Amino acid sequence: MNQDNKGRLVIISGPSGAGKSTVVGRLLDECGLPLRLSVSATTRTPRPGEVDGVSYFFLTPEEFAKRQAAGDFLESKEVFGLGHWYGTLREQVATGLNQGDWVILEIDVQGALTILENEDFDPITLFIHPGGMDELENRLRSRRTETNEAISARLETAAAEMLYRHRYQFEIINGNVDNAVAEICQILNDQKENYPCS
Ligand code: 5GP
Repeated sequence: MNQDNKGRLVIISGPSGAGKSTVVGRLLDECGLPLRLSVSATTRTPRPGEVDGVSYFFLTPEEFAKRQAAGDFLESKEVFGLGHWYGTLREQVATGLNQGDWVILEIDVQGALTILENEDFDPITLFIHPGGMDELENRLRSRRTETNEAISARLETAAAEMLYRHRYQFEIINGNVDNAVAEICQILNDQKENYPCS
C-alpha cells in the first residue's frame, strides 16, 4: 500500500506502562511532521477520561469479531491473555496514508511483527521502554487503573515484549518524557530526508 501513497507508517511499541501514550500525544503536536494517530479498536472497557473514537473504538466482543470476519483489520491480537482484543483498522491507515500523513500505530509486538511481514509497508519502527522492570511496575501501580491480576499480566507480557526490542529500528528509553519526545522527533525528521513529505 505504501508504494503508491505519499504517507508513511510509524510503528511504536513498548510495554504497557512505558509511557507510550504520553509520548505519542506529544509527538503529534511537537515534531513538525504530518503525524496522525491510527485509532485502534479494542474490546477492553474505557479507562476514566478515555473517549470512544478518540482513544479507541470501544467494541463489544461480538462487534469486534464481526469486524474481524469482515476483514476490517490490518492486524488484530488478544494482547494480554485476559480476553481483551485490539486491532488496527485498515480504514484508519489507508485514509491517513492516502492523505500523505505519517500514520502512527501504537501497537503491541505481535501486531508489529504481523505488519512487518506485510511487504506492502515499509514502516519506521520504534520501541519505547522505561529502562528497568521496577520502574515499569511503579508506573503501572501509580496509574491505579488496573487490578493486581491485570498488573501482573501486564508485567509478564512486558518481560516477553522486551525480548523483541531488537526487531525494531530504534530503541528509546523513556526515562524522561521531554528527552524521549525530542529523540523521536529527531529520528523521524532524519527519516524525512529519505522519504520527503508531500
Ligand atoms: P492499553 O490497554 O494500555 O491501552 O493497551 C495495551 C496494549 O495494546 C499496548 O501495548 C498497546 O500498544 C496495544 N495495542 C493498542 N492498540 C493495538 C492494536 O490495534 N493492535 C495491537 N496488536 N496492539 C494494540
